[in-house]
Amino acid sequence: MTMRLVASCVALVLVYSQAFAKQQPTDFQAVVDRAHAQFKDVKDGANADYIPILATVPSDMFGVVIVTRDGQVFSAGEMDYEFSIQSVSKPFTASLVMDQQGPAAVREKIGVEPTGLPFNSKMALELYAARSVNPLVNAGAIAAVSLVKADSEEDRWNQIHANLNAYAGRELPVLEEVYTSEYEESWSNRGIANLLYNYGRLYSDPEETLRVYTRQCSTGINTLDLGMMGATLANQGVNPVSGKRVLDAAHIPELLAIMATAGFYDESGEWMYSAGLPAKTGVGGGIVAVVPGKFAIATFSPPLNEAGNSVRGMQAIRYIAGELGVGLFGANKGE
Ligand code: GLN
Repeated sequence: MTMRLVASCVALVLVYSQAFAKQQPTDFQAVVDRAHAQFKDVKDGANADYIPILATVPSDMFGVVIVTRDGQVFSAGEMDYEFSIQSVSKPFTASLVMDQQGPAAVREKIGVEPTGLPFNSKMALELYAARSVNPLVNAGAIAAVSLVKADSEEDRWNQIHANLNAYAGRELPVLEEVYTSEYEESWSNRGIANLLYNYGRLYSDPEETLRVYTRQCSTGINTLDLGMMGATLANQGVNPVSGKRVLDAAHIPELLAIMATAGFYDESGEWMYSAGLPAKTGVGGGIVAVVPGKFAIATFSPPLNEAGNSVRGMQAIRYIAGELGVGLFGANKGE
């Protein structure tokens, strides 16, 4: 009798867990579809144009994807177009520095304080004693590139590229036209690199570092790649498809903490308030958000708001996080 009771309990649990396992993907797809449908016609914002070629990217492209820590993909809209990763590359190169030198080096040699200022702020360099401030603004990201242990410019780039490839799980192209367009107009970043060098907060040659940083930002990805890169962070540093470890799991909390506090520059507080997830944006139109231990949400949509963050991307991720109730501090409503 007892045995029969135990057996039927086990059967019940099995039926329930199978139903749950089946239900989850269906819900994810439905939520992704709704997010795409709801925001695809939003016309707010404008493409970045301080990198001239970015103004020519079709503004109506819009992709939304969830990639789970075990590699399941739920997508809607544009998944193939290769856009430039831009600042979304920054946490991934910070992770390379953490991997090579440990999180303490990032805190001491770059900094981990949000600036509350735009991503390209020169004033932040003067305001904060740390100068480079944090790895997700241009100054800190350029410093991170200079910290990669390398014996030549080519070696530095190869390591950064290999690291991005390992996160995405494929060999990513460099969009040479984007590189040229940005490097030719890099007066602001050149100023930042030189100032950092002057303050002893840049750790290799300024012009060489600037070239490698610009190449890093010109790396081409599609929406799915971005989802996979985030899923690798959600999966404690292991790419869900290749099974390759990219970052020591011990460093994931520090990396996600920087994304949570500085991923949206001077809009980071607003983002955490409404979406509750660590995330990173780029002026190419990409955003990746991470639900730690579970999945990533990635979006691509070129028009940006004043802070340089993708308008439709923010709306879609807030909506998905709200619907699934996955905000870090509880279920943000996505409003
Ligand atoms: N490459 C860009 C720059 O340095 C990246 C900025 C961004 O995506 N916010 O200005």
